[in-house]
Amino acid sequence: AEMLLEDLPGVGPATAEKLKEAGFATIESIAVASPAELGTSADIGEATAAKIIAAARPAADIGGFETGDMVFERRLHIGKIKTGCSEFDEMMGGGIESQSITEIYGEFGSGKTQVAHQLAVNVQLPEEYGGLDGSVIIIDTENTFRPDRIKQMVEGRASELGLELDADEVLRNIHVARAYNSNHQILLVDSALDLANELKDSGRPVKLLIVDSLTAHFRAEYIGRGTLADRQQKLNKHLHGLQRFANLNNAVVLVTNQVMSKPDVFFGDPTKPIGGHILGHTATFRLYIRKSKGDKRIVKLIDSPNLPEGEAVIAVTKDGVTN
Ligand code: ADP
Ligand code: MG
Repeated sequence: AEMLLEDLPGVGPATAEKLKEAGFATIESIAVASPAELGTSADIGEATAAKIIAAARPAADIGGFETGDMVFERRLHIGKIKTGCSEFDEMMGGGIESQSITEIYGEFGSGKTQVAHQLAVNVQLPEEYGGLDGSVIIIDTENTFRPDRIKQMVEGRASELGLELDADEVLRNIHVARAYNSNHQILLVDSALDLANELKDSGRPVKLLIVDSLTAHFRAEYIGRGTLADRQQKLNKHLHGLQRFANLNNAVVLVTNQVMSKPDVFFGDPTKPIGGHILGHTATFRLYIRKSKGDKRIVKLIDSPNLPEGEAVIAVTKDGVTN
């Protein structure tokens, strides 16, 4: 059976609760913590914290080393979700990859949530139609999930592909949870792992996890208090949990990140968000989306381990993301 926080030496229910509230919800997150940060989070001495961390390490799934052939074998199973726009797919080497985190960032209204909705539909299609026969988990932090929009996109796909699709069935395969703050958001990744385990052999395994928006709560909560380093550390842990989800389920993880325009900046790269990229280089694929003429959007591939930088023009119409 999996180890619980309460199984660690010196961790009773009250300490376990404090740890969870501070974002240390899993044995893994404790195993990679420092004694100082763990001690402060749970009101315990550093020596006790060090003992807890030492006990968590052997039980934690914190990777260690994989040999090259193991990585090769795992990567043979990478799946790709087609976006609905062929130029976009080509730029991504065929679609949005599983076992990776893909970040899409852009201004308010640029189309991040639209792309997320579209992938939630497309992932459910059979492989020959660019899907992964999967179901979806959405962590919705801004209350922008819209079932009606999914229905429109299902109709769009159905007529484009000449398929019969049942919109209600598609909605039943999308599991949505609102996240009320950043701690809740982190905890929901554990719930997502549980749900994915439940659905593993259902014929509809979870193949897509969306966090929309990844950063809104973190931004709001750390304005004027705490330090950027605290926020960064917590976000890094969150991303570590998301990467683990992607690997364990051979799933696509898509996260959105809002940035603000900088009309006052004359030098440097205007696509750089204020305060720097708070995600650093933790996402594997980084996409910058911006508005263009009419329903067109330009998606730019900024960062990828194996693909050249590039740009794709997509359209966001009533039917969803299209050429
Ligand atoms: P954000 O990047 O803030 O998540 P959204 O993905 O919510 O932005 O994009 C909102 C935009 O998507 C709208 O301004 C509109 O251009 C487009 N859009 C949303 N719904 C529809 C629709 N039903 N038909 C056509 N375009 C839509
Ligand atoms: Mg949005």
